[in-house]
Amino acid sequence: MSKSIKKINIGEEIWKWAKKIINYNRSITGKGTLDTLKFIKLINEDIKIKFASSRTKVFDWIIPDEWEVKEAYIEDTKKTKIIDFKTNNLYVLNYSISVKKNLKLSELKKNIFTNPKVPKGIPYRTSYYNKKWGFCMEHSRYKKLKNETYHVCIQSKFFKGKMHYGEFLKKGKSKKEILLSTYICHPSMANNETSGIVLLTALSRYIKSIKNSYYSYRIIFVPETIGAIYYIHKNLIKLKKNVVAGYVISCVGDNNNYSYIETRYGNTISDKIAKFVFKENKIKFKLYSYLTRGADERQFGSPNINLPIGSILRTRHGRYKEYHTSLDNMQLVTKEGFENSFKLYQKVIDVFESNRIYKLNVYCEPFFTKYSISNHIGGEIIDQLNLNISNFCAYCDGENDLIQLSKIINIKYETCVKIAEILYKNKIIKIIE
Ligand SMILES: [Zn+2]
Repeated sequence: MSKSIKKINIGEEIWKWAKKIINYNRSITGKGTLDTLKFIKLINEDIKIKFASSRTKVFDWIIPDEWEVKEAYIEDTKKTKIIDFKTNNLYVLNYSISVKKNLKLSELKKNIFTNPKVPKGIPYRTSYYNKKWGFCMEHSRYKKLKNETYHVCIQSKFFKGKMHYGEFLKKGKSKKEILLSTYICHPSMANNETSGIVLLTALSRYIKSIKNSYYSYRIIFVPETIGAIYYIHKNLIKLKKNVVAGYVISCVGDNNNYSYIETRYGNTISDKIAKFVFKENKIKFKLYSYLTRGADERQFGSPNINLPIGSILRTRHGRYKEYHTSLDNMQLVTKEGFENSFKLYQKVIDVFESNRIYKLNVYCEPFFTKYSISNHIGGEIIDQLNLNISNFCAYCDGENDLIQLSKIINIKYETCVKIAEILYKNKIIKIIE
Protein backbone atom coordinates (compact mmCIF):
# COMPACT_ATOMS: atom_id res chain seq x y z
CA MET A 1 0.00 0.00 0.00
CA SER A 2 1.39 3.33 -0.94
CA LYS A 3 1.38 5.98 1.69
CA SER A 4 -1.32 8.50 0.92
CA ILE A 5 -0.08 12.04 0.80
CA LYS A 6 -2.61 14.78 1.40
CA LYS A 7 -2.34 17.01 -1.61
CA ILE A 8 -2.43 20.63 -0.56
CA ASN A 9 -4.66 22.58 -2.80
CA ILE A 10 -2.98 25.58 -4.44
CA GLY A 11 -5.63 27.99 -3.12
CA GLU A 12 -5.06 26.82 0.42
CA GLU A 13 -1.30 27.10 0.04
CA ILE A 14 -1.52 30.68 -1.27
CA TRP A 15 -4.04 31.64 1.43
CA LYS A 16 -1.66 30.37 4.12
CA TRP A 17 1.20 32.45 2.73
CA ALA A 18 -1.05 35.50 2.85
CA LYS A 19 -1.95 34.80 6.46
CA LYS A 20 1.72 34.65 7.40
CA ILE A 21 2.72 37.98 5.91
CA ILE A 22 -0.42 40.08 6.08
CA ASN A 23 0.56 41.90 9.27
CA TYR A 24 4.11 42.84 8.33
CA ASN A 25 4.55 46.58 8.67
CA ARG A 26 5.01 47.25 4.98
CA SER A 27 5.60 50.65 3.50
CA ILE A 28 7.51 51.89 0.47
CA THR A 29 10.70 51.22 2.45
CA GLY A 30 11.64 49.46 5.66
CA LYS A 31 11.88 46.12 7.42
CA GLY A 32 8.31 44.91 6.79
CA THR A 33 8.80 45.25 3.05
CA LEU A 34 12.20 43.56 3.09
CA ASP A 35 10.82 40.73 5.27
CA THR A 36 7.99 40.28 2.75
CA LEU A 37 10.56 39.85 -0.03
CA LYS A 38 12.59 37.42 2.10
CA PHE A 39 9.43 35.39 2.68
CA ILE A 40 8.55 35.06 -1.01
CA LYS A 41 12.17 34.19 -1.79
CA LEU A 42 11.75 31.13 0.44
CA ILE A 43 9.00 30.00 -1.93
CA ASN A 44 10.89 30.80 -5.13
CA GLU A 45 14.60 31.15 -4.53
CA ASP A 46 15.07 32.66 -7.99
CA ILE A 47 13.33 35.86 -6.92
CA LYS A 48 16.18 38.34 -6.51
CA ILE A 49 16.00 40.99 -3.80
CA LYS A 50 17.36 44.28 -5.10
CA PHE A 51 17.38 47.85 -3.89
CA ALA A 52 17.61 51.50 -4.81
CA SER A 53 19.10 54.11 -2.50
CA SER A 54 17.05 56.81 -0.82
CA ARG A 55 17.36 60.27 -2.34
CA THR A 56 17.93 58.87 -5.86
CA LYS A 57 16.23 61.01 -8.46
CA VAL A 58 13.98 59.03 -10.80
CA PHE A 59 12.27 61.03 -13.55
CA ASP A 60 10.14 63.62 -11.75
CA TRP A 61 10.43 61.89 -8.35
CA ILE A 62 12.93 61.29 -5.56
CA ILE A 63 13.10 58.04 -3.58
CA PRO A 64 12.29 59.00 0.02
CA ASP A 65 14.34 58.18 3.10
CA GLU A 66 13.77 54.93 4.89
CA TRP A 67 11.14 55.04 7.62
CA GLU A 68 11.10 53.09 10.84
CA VAL A 69 8.52 53.17 13.66
CA LYS A 70 9.46 52.10 17.18
CA GLU A 71 6.19 52.90 18.83
CA ALA A 72 3.03 54.86 18.28
CA TYR A 73 0.15 55.22 20.69
CA ILE A 74 -2.44 57.54 22.20
CA GLU A 75 -3.13 57.42 25.94
CA ASP A 76 -6.12 58.88 27.73
CA THR A 77 -5.89 60.59 31.13
CA LYS A 78 -6.02 57.22 32.89
CA LYS A 79 -2.93 56.17 30.92
CA THR A 80 -4.94 53.59 29.04
CA LYS A 81 -3.68 53.16 25.49
CA ILE A 82 -6.69 53.80 23.28
CA ILE A 83 -4.63 53.24 20.15
CA ASP A 84 -1.46 51.19 19.85
CA PHE A 85 0.58 50.59 16.71
CA LYS A 86 1.60 47.24 18.24
CA THR A 87 -1.96 45.90 17.94
CA ASN A 88 -2.43 47.06 14.34
CA ASN A 89 0.11 48.92 12.23
CA LEU A 90 -2.66 50.72 10.34
CA TYR A 91 -3.21 52.86 13.45
CA VAL A 92 -0.27 55.05 12.55
CA LEU A 93 -0.20 57.30 9.50
CA ASN A 94 2.25 55.59 7.14
CA TYR A 95 5.48 57.69 7.08
CA SER A 96 4.41 59.68 10.14
CA ILE A 97 7.05 61.85 11.78
CA SER A 98 7.69 61.67 15.53
CA VAL A 99 5.56 63.45 18.09
CA LYS A 100 5.34 63.42 21.88
CA LYS A 101 2.91 65.78 23.58
CA ASN A 102 -0.31 66.28 25.48
CA LEU A 103 -3.27 67.55 23.54
CA LYS A 104 -6.87 68.51 24.02
CA LEU A 105 -9.40 66.44 22.07
CA SER A 106 -10.09 69.28 19.63
CA GLU A 107 -6.35 69.51 18.81
CA LEU A 108 -5.88 65.76 18.63
CA LYS A 109 -8.75 65.39 16.16
CA LYS A 110 -6.81 67.43 13.58
CA ASN A 111 -4.31 64.57 13.31
CA ILE A 112 -6.70 61.63 13.34
CA PHE A 113 -7.99 60.11 10.11
CA THR A 114 -11.16 58.05 9.96
CA ASN A 115 -13.49 56.70 7.31
CA PRO A 116 -17.12 57.48 8.28
CA LYS A 117 -18.36 55.22 5.48
CA VAL A 118 -16.62 52.24 7.07
CA PRO A 119 -17.01 53.15 10.76
CA LYS A 120 -15.58 49.89 12.10
CA GLY A 121 -12.46 49.89 9.94
CA ILE A 122 -9.13 51.60 10.55
CA PRO A 123 -8.45 53.51 7.34
CA TYR A 124 -5.13 53.18 5.52
CA ARG A 125 -3.51 56.58 5.05
CA THR A 126 -0.03 57.59 3.94
CA SER A 127 1.98 60.78 3.87
CA TYR A 128 5.19 59.88 2.07
CA TYR A 129 6.08 63.28 0.75
CA ASN A 130 4.45 65.70 3.24
CA LYS A 131 6.08 65.53 6.64
CA LYS A 132 3.31 65.24 9.20
CA TRP A 133 2.29 63.12 12.14
CA GLY A 134 -0.98 61.33 12.46
CA PHE A 135 -3.07 58.39 13.56
CA CYS A 136 -5.86 56.48 11.86
CA MET A 137 -8.73 54.94 13.78
CA GLU A 138 -12.19 53.45 13.58
CA HIS A 139 -14.78 56.19 13.14
CA SER A 140 -17.11 54.43 15.59
CA ARG A 141 -14.49 54.78 18.35
CA TYR A 142 -13.43 58.25 17.26
CA LYS A 143 -16.99 59.51 17.75
CA LYS A 144 -16.93 58.29 21.35
CA LEU A 145 -13.66 59.97 22.36
CA LYS A 146 -14.16 61.89 25.60
CA ASN A 147 -13.39 65.53 25.92
CA GLU A 148 -10.17 65.22 27.90
CA THR A 149 -6.43 65.59 27.49
CA TYR A 150 -4.58 62.89 25.57
CA HIS A 151 -0.95 61.94 25.41
CA VAL A 152 0.28 61.18 21.92
CA CYS A 153 3.55 59.46 21.18
CA ILE A 154 5.05 58.44 17.87
CA GLN A 155 8.67 57.40 17.82
CA SER A 156 9.79 57.09 14.24
CA LYS A 157 12.95 57.84 12.36
CA PHE A 158 13.97 58.69 8.84
CA PHE A 159 17.38 57.93 7.40
CA LYS A 160 19.17 57.58 4.10
CA GLY A 161 18.61 53.89 3.42
CA LYS A 162 17.21 51.56 0.80
CA MET A 163 14.01 50.89 -1.09
CA HIS A 164 13.85 47.16 -1.74
CA TYR A 165 12.09 45.32 -4.52
CA GLY A 166 11.98 41.80 -5.96
CA GLU A 167 12.66 40.62 -9.48
CA PHE A 168 12.31 37.24 -11.18
CA LEU A 169 13.40 36.67 -14.74
CA LYS A 170 12.85 33.63 -16.88
CA LYS A 171 14.38 33.38 -20.29
CA GLY A 172 12.28 31.87 -23.04
CA LYS A 173 13.05 31.00 -26.65
CA SER A 174 12.05 34.51 -27.59
CA LYS A 175 13.46 37.73 -26.18
CA LYS A 176 9.91 39.07 -26.09
CA GLU A 177 8.78 39.48 -22.53
CA ILE A 178 5.58 39.24 -20.53
CA LEU A 179 5.75 41.60 -17.55
CA LEU A 180 3.85 40.76 -14.38
CA SER A 181 3.93 43.27 -11.55
CA THR A 182 2.53 43.64 -8.08
CA TYR A 183 3.08 46.10 -5.25
CA ILE A 184 4.50 45.42 -1.82
CA CYS A 185 3.96 48.60 0.21
CA HIS A 186 0.58 48.18 1.95
CA PRO A 187 0.55 46.98 5.55
CA SER A 188 -2.05 44.61 7.06
CA MET A 189 -4.58 44.43 4.26
CA ALA A 190 -5.50 41.20 2.54
CA ASN A 191 -7.04 41.75 -0.87
CA ASN A 192 -5.34 45.05 -1.60
CA GLU A 193 -2.56 44.00 -1.52
CA THR A 194 -1.23 40.87 0.19
CA SER A 195 -3.23 38.81 -2.33
CA GLY A 196 -1.21 40.20 -5.24
CA ILE A 197 2.11 39.39 -3.60
CA VAL A 198 1.28 35.77 -2.81
CA LEU A 199 -0.54 35.06 -6.07
CA LEU A 200 2.34 36.41 -8.14
CA THR A 201 4.77 34.34 -6.07
CA ALA A 202 2.75 31.22 -6.91
CA LEU A 203 2.69 32.26 -10.57
CA SER A 204 6.45 32.83 -10.59
CA ARG A 205 6.86 29.24 -9.39
CA TYR A 206 4.50 28.04 -12.14
CA ILE A 207 6.31 30.03 -14.81
CA LYS A 208 9.63 28.67 -13.58
CA SER A 209 8.27 25.16 -14.13
CA ILE A 210 7.29 25.72 -17.78
CA LYS A 211 9.74 23.80 -19.95
CA ASN A 212 11.02 25.62 -23.02
CA SER A 213 8.69 28.58 -22.70
CA TYR A 214 8.30 30.68 -25.81
CA TYR A 215 8.15 34.01 -24.01
CA SER A 216 10.58 35.38 -21.47
CA TYR A 217 8.95 36.46 -18.23
CA ARG A 218 9.79 39.44 -16.06
CA ILE A 219 8.09 39.44 -12.69
CA ILE A 220 8.48 42.34 -10.29
CA PHE A 221 7.44 43.05 -6.71
CA VAL A 222 7.76 46.80 -6.22
CA PRO A 223 6.51 49.49 -3.84
CA GLU A 224 3.56 51.09 -5.60
CA THR A 225 4.22 54.21 -7.68
CA ILE A 226 7.78 55.11 -6.59
CA GLY A 227 8.97 51.51 -6.94
CA ALA A 228 7.42 51.14 -10.38
CA ILE A 229 8.80 54.51 -11.45
CA TYR A 230 12.28 53.51 -10.26
CA TYR A 231 12.05 50.16 -12.03
CA ILE A 232 10.94 51.76 -15.29
CA HIS A 233 13.68 54.41 -14.97
CA LYS A 234 16.35 51.76 -14.46
CA ASN A 235 15.16 49.38 -17.19
CA LEU A 236 13.43 51.66 -19.69
CA ILE A 237 15.37 50.68 -22.81
CA LYS A 238 15.08 46.96 -22.12
CA LEU A 239 11.39 47.23 -21.25
CA LYS A 240 10.54 49.27 -24.35
CA LYS A 241 12.46 46.85 -26.54
CA ASN A 242 11.17 43.55 -25.15
CA VAL A 243 7.91 43.83 -23.24
CA VAL A 244 4.98 42.86 -25.47
CA ALA A 245 2.31 42.32 -22.82
CA GLY A 246 1.65 42.10 -19.12
CA TYR A 247 -0.57 42.74 -16.14
CA VAL A 248 -0.57 44.41 -12.76
CA ILE A 249 -1.79 41.88 -10.20
CA SER A 250 -3.76 43.04 -7.15
CA CYS A 251 -7.10 42.28 -5.46
CA VAL A 252 -7.08 38.64 -6.52
CA GLY A 253 -8.07 36.86 -3.29
CA ASP A 254 -11.85 37.36 -3.08
CA ASN A 255 -14.05 34.91 -4.93
CA ASN A 256 -16.34 37.45 -6.58
CA ASN A 257 -16.58 38.39 -10.23
CA TYR A 258 -13.47 39.30 -12.18
CA SER A 259 -12.54 42.76 -13.38
CA TYR A 260 -10.30 43.82 -16.23
CA ILE A 261 -8.69 47.25 -16.51
CA GLU A 262 -7.68 47.92 -20.09
CA THR A 263 -4.43 49.41 -21.32
CA ARG A 264 -4.61 53.07 -22.39
CA TYR A 265 -6.40 52.46 -25.69
CA GLY A 266 -7.59 48.93 -24.92
CA ASN A 267 -6.09 47.63 -28.16
CA THR A 268 -3.03 45.64 -27.14
CA ILE A 269 -2.31 41.93 -27.07
CA SER A 270 -2.73 42.06 -23.25
CA ASP A 271 -6.31 43.28 -23.70
CA LYS A 272 -7.00 40.77 -26.43
CA ILE A 273 -5.72 37.73 -24.50
CA ALA A 274 -7.37 38.68 -21.18
CA LYS A 275 -10.78 39.22 -22.79
CA PHE A 276 -10.37 36.09 -24.87
CA VAL A 277 -9.63 33.93 -21.81
CA PHE A 278 -12.71 35.28 -20.00
CA LYS A 279 -14.96 34.67 -22.99
CA GLU A 280 -13.53 31.30 -23.99
CA ASN A 281 -14.04 30.02 -20.42
CA LYS A 282 -17.45 31.69 -20.07
CA ILE A 283 -16.24 33.72 -17.09
CA LYS A 284 -18.16 36.87 -16.21
CA PHE A 285 -16.04 39.99 -15.90
CA LYS A 286 -16.51 43.71 -15.55
CA LEU A 287 -14.60 45.81 -18.04
CA TYR A 288 -12.96 49.07 -16.93
CA SER A 289 -11.23 51.52 -19.22
CA TYR A 290 -7.87 53.13 -18.50
CA LEU A 291 -9.83 56.17 -17.30
CA THR A 292 -10.39 54.22 -14.07
CA ARG A 293 -6.76 53.07 -13.70
CA GLY A 294 -5.62 52.81 -10.12
CA ALA A 295 -2.32 51.03 -9.55
CA ASP A 296 0.99 50.80 -11.39
CA GLU A 297 -0.71 50.56 -14.78
CA ARG A 298 -0.66 54.36 -14.34
CA GLN A 299 3.12 54.34 -14.71
CA PHE A 300 3.47 51.58 -17.30
CA GLY A 301 0.82 53.13 -19.53
CA SER A 302 1.88 56.78 -19.29
CA PRO A 303 2.60 58.38 -22.68
CA ASN A 304 6.42 58.30 -22.76
CA ILE A 305 6.55 54.80 -21.36
CA ASN A 306 3.60 53.28 -23.21
CA LEU A 307 3.96 49.66 -22.15
CA PRO A 308 0.95 47.43 -22.87
CA ILE A 309 0.10 46.56 -19.26
CA GLY A 310 -3.50 45.80 -18.25
CA SER A 311 -4.79 44.47 -14.96
CA ILE A 312 -6.79 41.33 -14.18
CA LEU A 313 -8.43 41.50 -10.76
CA ARG A 314 -11.40 40.14 -8.83
CA THR A 315 -13.36 42.97 -7.14
CA ARG A 316 -11.11 45.84 -8.10
CA HIS A 317 -9.52 48.40 -5.80
CA GLY A 318 -11.83 51.16 -4.72
CA ARG A 319 -14.96 49.15 -5.53
CA TYR A 320 -15.50 47.21 -2.31
CA LYS A 321 -16.39 48.82 0.96
CA GLU A 322 -13.56 47.31 3.02
CA TYR A 323 -10.97 48.69 0.57
CA HIS A 324 -8.06 50.52 2.25
CA THR A 325 -9.26 49.71 5.76
CA SER A 326 -8.45 47.09 8.38
CA LEU A 327 -11.63 45.24 7.33
CA ASP A 328 -9.84 44.17 4.17
CA ASN A 329 -8.70 41.16 6.19
CA MET A 330 -8.22 37.40 5.86
CA GLN A 331 -11.97 36.82 5.96
CA LEU A 332 -12.36 38.78 2.76
CA VAL A 333 -9.99 36.54 0.81
CA THR A 334 -10.69 32.83 0.41
CA LYS A 335 -8.91 29.67 -0.62
CA GLU A 336 -11.36 29.31 -3.51
CA GLY A 337 -10.73 32.90 -4.53
CA PHE A 338 -6.98 32.34 -4.66
CA GLU A 339 -7.35 29.04 -6.45
CA ASN A 340 -9.62 30.44 -9.13
CA SER A 341 -7.47 33.54 -9.65
CA PHE A 342 -4.36 31.38 -9.90
CA LYS A 343 -6.00 29.12 -12.48
CA LEU A 344 -7.25 32.09 -14.46
CA TYR A 345 -3.77 33.63 -14.65
CA GLN A 346 -2.40 30.19 -15.52
CA LYS A 347 -4.85 30.02 -18.43
CA VAL A 348 -3.77 33.47 -19.59
CA ILE A 349 -0.11 32.41 -19.55
CA ASP A 350 -0.95 29.16 -21.33
CA VAL A 351 -2.73 31.08 -24.08
CA PHE A 352 0.27 33.38 -24.49
CA GLU A 353 2.47 30.30 -24.78
CA SER A 354 0.28 28.51 -27.32
CA ASN A 355 -1.00 31.41 -29.41
CA ARG A 356 1.46 31.60 -32.29
CA ILE A 357 1.13 32.82 -35.86
CA TYR A 358 1.83 30.02 -38.29
CA LYS A 359 2.17 29.87 -42.06
CA LEU A 360 1.61 26.99 -44.41
CA ASN A 361 4.95 25.48 -45.43
CA VAL A 362 3.82 23.86 -48.70
CA TYR A 363 2.47 25.18 -51.97
CA CYS A 364 -1.18 24.29 -52.73
CA GLU A 365 -2.96 21.98 -50.31
CA PRO A 366 -0.83 19.54 -48.35
CA PHE A 367 -1.09 15.89 -49.39
CA PHE A 368 -2.61 14.85 -46.05
CA THR A 369 -2.72 11.11 -46.84
CA LYS A 370 1.08 11.06 -46.82
CA TYR A 371 1.23 12.32 -43.26
CA SER A 372 -1.54 10.20 -41.70
CA ILE A 373 -2.20 12.94 -39.22
CA SER A 374 -5.86 12.35 -38.50
CA ASN A 375 -5.11 9.54 -36.02
CA HIS A 376 -3.40 11.94 -33.70
CA ILE A 377 -6.54 13.52 -32.35
CA GLY A 378 -8.99 11.20 -30.66
CA GLY A 379 -12.62 11.65 -29.83
CA GLU A 380 -13.70 13.61 -32.86
CA ILE A 381 -15.70 12.62 -35.90
CA ILE A 382 -13.03 12.02 -38.45
CA ASP A 383 -14.67 13.94 -41.29
CA GLN A 384 -15.13 16.97 -39.11
CA LEU A 385 -11.50 16.73 -38.04
CA ASN A 386 -10.28 16.53 -41.62
CA LEU A 387 -12.42 19.49 -42.48
CA ASN A 388 -11.00 21.43 -39.53
CA ILE A 389 -7.44 20.61 -40.55
CA SER A 390 -8.16 21.57 -44.12
CA ASN A 391 -9.77 24.85 -43.01
CA PHE A 392 -6.88 25.52 -40.65
CA CYS A 393 -4.43 25.22 -43.52
CA ALA A 394 -6.60 27.34 -45.78
CA TYR A 395 -6.32 30.30 -43.41
CA CYS A 396 -2.81 29.57 -42.14
CA ASP A 397 -1.35 32.41 -44.17
CA GLY A 398 1.01 34.03 -41.69
CA GLU A 399 -1.55 36.70 -40.82
CA ASN A 400 -3.74 35.03 -38.20
CA ASP A 401 -2.77 33.94 -34.75
CA LEU A 402 -4.55 30.88 -33.36
CA ILE A 403 -7.20 33.01 -31.64
CA GLN A 404 -8.18 34.61 -34.95
CA LEU A 405 -7.93 31.30 -36.76
CA SER A 406 -10.25 29.60 -34.29
CA LYS A 407 -12.80 32.36 -34.86
CA ILE A 408 -12.53 32.26 -38.65
CA ILE A 409 -12.90 28.51 -38.96
CA ASN A 410 -15.28 28.33 -36.02
CA ILE A 411 -13.60 25.75 -33.82
CA LYS A 412 -12.53 25.77 -30.20
CA TYR A 413 -9.19 27.39 -29.42
CA GLU A 414 -7.95 24.18 -27.78
CA THR A 415 -8.67 22.18 -30.93
CA CYS A 416 -6.88 24.83 -32.94
CA VAL A 417 -3.81 24.44 -30.71
CA LYS A 418 -3.84 20.65 -31.11
CA ILE A 419 -4.12 20.89 -34.88
CA ALA A 420 -1.26 23.38 -34.95
CA GLU A 421 0.94 21.09 -32.87
CA ILE A 422 0.42 18.14 -35.21
CA LEU A 423 0.86 20.14 -38.40
CA TYR A 424 3.98 21.75 -36.97
CA LYS A 425 5.47 18.39 -35.98
CA ASN A 426 4.95 17.23 -39.55
CA LYS A 427 6.55 20.43 -40.86
CA ILE A 428 3.39 21.30 -42.80
CA ILE A 429 3.33 24.72 -41.12
CA LYS A 430 6.05 26.98 -39.74
CA ILE A 431 6.08 29.53 -36.96
CA ILE A 432 6.07 33.15 -38.09
CA GLU A 433 5.81 34.73 -34.66
ZN1 LIG B 1 -4.03 50.34 -2.37
